[in-house]
Amino acid sequence: MTCRIAGFFSLLLICVSPARADWMQRTEAIMGTRCYVELWADDPVKGNDDIDAVMAELRRIDALMSHYKPESELSQINQHANERPVQVDKELFDLIKLSTHFSQITEGAFDITYASVGYLYDYPNHIHPSDAQIRAKLPAVNWRNLLLDEEHHSVRFEHPGMRIDLGGIGKGYAVDRGIEILKARGVARALVTAGGDSRIIGDRMGKPWLVAIRHPDNPNKVVTRIPLSDSAVSTSGDYERFFDEGGVRYHHIIDPHTGHSASKVRSATILAPTATQTDGMSKTAFVLGPEKALEIINRMPEYDAVFVLPDGKMLYSNGLRPPEPRPPGAAPAATGAGSARP
Ligand code: ADP
Ligand code: MG
Repeated sequence: MTCRIAGFFSLLLICVSPARADWMQRTEAIMGTRCYVELWADDPVKGNDDIDAVMAELRRIDALMSHYKPESELSQINQHANERPVQVDKELFDLIKLSTHFSQITEGAFDITYASVGYLYDYPNHIHPSDAQIRAKLPAVNWRNLLLDEEHHSVRFEHPGMRIDLGGIGKGYAVDRGIEILKARGVARALVTAGGDSRIIGDRMGKPWLVAIRHPDNPNKVVTRIPLSDSAVSTSGDYERFFDEGGVRYHHIIDPHTGHSASKVRSATILAPTATQTDGMSKTAFVLGPEKALEIINRMPEYDAVFVLPDGKMLYSNGLRPPEPRPPGAAPAATGAGSARP
């Protein structure tokens, strides 16, 4: 009886207490990685529904694009596109097409056909292909051999042994879809993260979010924090999926020109308006290395980059560099909207 009364009073309390605006957050394992949503909710019930909607969207995209799921449309392409054109959902077709655009602007450093060699690596079991195996499969790595039929949304491989994998752009795309859903539901302040890819709408009540870049060898150490609002950010690092053997680090970012794990940097972080852009460009920056990548990035005003180099030094794109020291007696520098300066 007492129990029932207590239950009644707590129910009453829930009903009469005004819904309190607050930050809400949730983490779920989707797409083989940690997915996180944090948002400012005026009403916790709606906030919870908003988070549900994002998580459902991430699961939907995973079902479409996962290469682990044999029934996914992506797996159907890999199974049959050697023999015939495989018709797929327009959404998947468009993301594959966008991936080839990234290949085009990055001289093939980003290439979803990297998987033709990439699947020979098995990081948890410390397996990597021999040089002979790489030589045999490397000719299948070439985005130009993906035949895309716009009219029928079909994909055909023009080279035997080809495979594609969207692990380098799918999470960024999923984050963007999550953000679109939140915007459509009227959410003005939120962060959506999937693995190394995040996008922020709004700010933290007048202050920017501080996005940390971790130390490559110590997950608990931060090398820098970048203040961000209304922006996306992706980091690719050689410490996410890897093993070391004979002084070589075998990890999950593959140089499509060599079939080996890329080694010019320890991590590459990209800032841009959308997470699809930052995800695609973080592999590019990682594979090309700082000099070449900065040539491209400094030409594109909406992108910025931060590198952690093999010797531990940091390198920034022009938009993030601290201002040069002013010569004595020079006029004060103009202030105003600029890129975030860590
Ligand atoms: P996360 O998946 O945690 O966000 P990254 O954004 O760094 O990490 O993506 C790494 C993934 O990108 C790899 O697991 C692989 O699926 C894919 N990938 C690796 N090399 C390339 C490449 N050269 N071009 C396109 N995708 C790549
Ligand atoms: Mg990513």
